[in-house]
Amino acid sequence: MRLILLGPPGAGKGTQAKRLEERYGIAQISTGDMLRAEVKSGSPIGLEAKAIMERGDLVPDAIITAMLALRVQKPDCVNGFILDGFPRTVPQAEALDTMLRQQRMDLDHVIELKVDDAALVERIAGRFTCAKCGEGYHDSFKKPAKAGVCDACGSTDFVRRADDKAETVAARLEAYHRQTAPLLPFYGAQGKLKQVDGMAEMDEVTRQLQAILGPPPTKA
Ligand code: ADP
Ligand code: ADP
Ligand code: ZN
Repeated sequence: MRLILLGPPGAGKGTQAKRLEERYGIAQISTGDMLRAEVKSGSPIGLEAKAIMERGDLVPDAIITAMLALRVQKPDCVNGFILDGFPRTVPQAEALDTMLRQQRMDLDHVIELKVDDAALVERIAGRFTCAKCGEGYHDSFKKPAKAGVCDACGSTDFVRRADDKAETVAARLEAYHRQTAPLLPFYGAQGKLKQVDGMAEMDEVTRQLQAILGPPPTKA
């Protein structure tokens, strides 16, 4: 199964992608996570991307599509993948179509998580993750069961993203509306677009996604 989760920053793409990854045995591909790893390692891509990401702008299409083309060839993608944060521009979507066509692959679903801008600001401002295992949390909507301790791995180290500060969020939302929202009619015209109410609580969003994707594959 190959699918795209579309939606503005903070819509819940990463949260839901992780849940679907487990249920359907497919790989979550987050271009944002990949870029943050490049920044951390100080690679040439990371050096170029760092300032762009901190401003809340989009990294150039050529860098992203090259990175993605390598990623989808990794062995964990044999059963499919969930694209989280890619494509973000029409040229990226066109490059993806070409890439998939060359490999005789198709996209099964493109699902938009719809969330109001006001809710996004609140979600982004409260977001933090476990520094060790990457489990996602929120100050109000998903606190660790025991304050300061990761539910998933027990670590007491948490991080907040450099671009999750209020000044940057407006630029990211602007980039979404101007550069990414045109993907909605793009995939609509291909007859692939479905919508889910991203304003609902997390488990309800998961239920809506599962209703679209159907039962998980049966294990042999
Ligand atoms: P995205 O990957 O789209 O940027 P995330 O999955 O990181 O979004 O979610 C942004 C923040 O909002 C996180 O702190 C997450 O815990 C929280 N969150 C995700 N889904 C919901 C939801 N349905 N209701 C409330 N908070 C949510
Ligand atoms: P979000 O929570 O906004 O969905 P991501 O982790 O997906 O955040 O992306 C963080 C930043 O990484 C973006 O603001 C952008 O600078 C860069 N980025 C991630 N994916 C892409 C992409 N497909 N094209 C261009 N830039 C990207
Ligand atoms: Zn953890």
